[in-house]
Amino acid sequence: IEQTAFQNDKLAMLGKIAAAIAHEIRNPLTSIRGFIQLLKPYLESIGKLEYARIILSEIDRANDIIYEFLNSSKPSAPMKQKLSVASLVKETILLTESEAHMKGCELQYEIYDSEIAVAIDVKQIKQVLLNIVKNAMDAILEAGDQRKGLIEMSARREGRFAVIRIRDNGKGMDRTTLNRLFDPFFTTKEEGTGLGLSVSYRIIRNHGGMIQVDSQVNEGTEFMIYLPLVADKE
Ligand code: ADP
Repeated sequence: IEQTAFQNDKLAMLGKIAAAIAHEIRNPLTSIRGFIQLLKPYLESIGKLEYARIILSEIDRANDIIYEFLNSSKPSAPMKQKLSVASLVKETILLTESEAHMKGCELQYEIYDSEIAVAIDVKQIKQVLLNIVKNAMDAILEAGDQRKGLIEMSARREGRFAVIRIRDNGKGMDRTTLNRLFDPFFTTKEEGTGLGLSVSYRIIRNHGGMIQVDSQVNEGTEFMIYLPLVADKE
């Protein structure tokens, strides 16, 4: 799936604007947050504590959007560091395991070529993998039936690339969703920002890699992340 240059430009421009104003928006949000906390006892006394919960979660959502914007507007040159793909996958599993268990999903991984390494901005690539695993959990929950959630990660060599696959047995995607998946702000979730995958796409592109997606409604989805391998002598 190819993202157009237009979408990339649009995202870069939005990121810049956001970086410029995010600070100014964050400060008032912080004080609103503080005052709502102070109003909690009052809201409780009139039986409307629920309002505080809604306001706080909406403020947090606004903060998340700003945070993701700021991430996407950061200088695009990644701070590269050599890392084995095996440890990248294992760390992602470690970081998501407890949330997965809480949500009743099983996480599995398989490393086919344990010696392969990539030169990556570890923070950025972890952000991508976490994003995709979290989306997988959401898709499993949204499938809403009795199936046992399963998320499988694997890593192997393919030509001059390391390929990390993340497969879920969640609700899958129809054509329309697949076509818009990487668009900034495209989301099908009530609480979504629609930024996770557009930012992920940019990060992978900046690393000289690519993302591919394969999905079947009601069956599940598979993301394939290609990252250039570090040559042995490097
Ligand atoms: P968000 O998670 O905030 O909605 P993303 O950019 O991460 O934003 O994802 C965009 C949309 O892509 C999601 O709202 C969802 O509809 C779809 N999507 C992403 N990953 C999956 C998946 N594993 N299974 C099904 N749908 C997915």
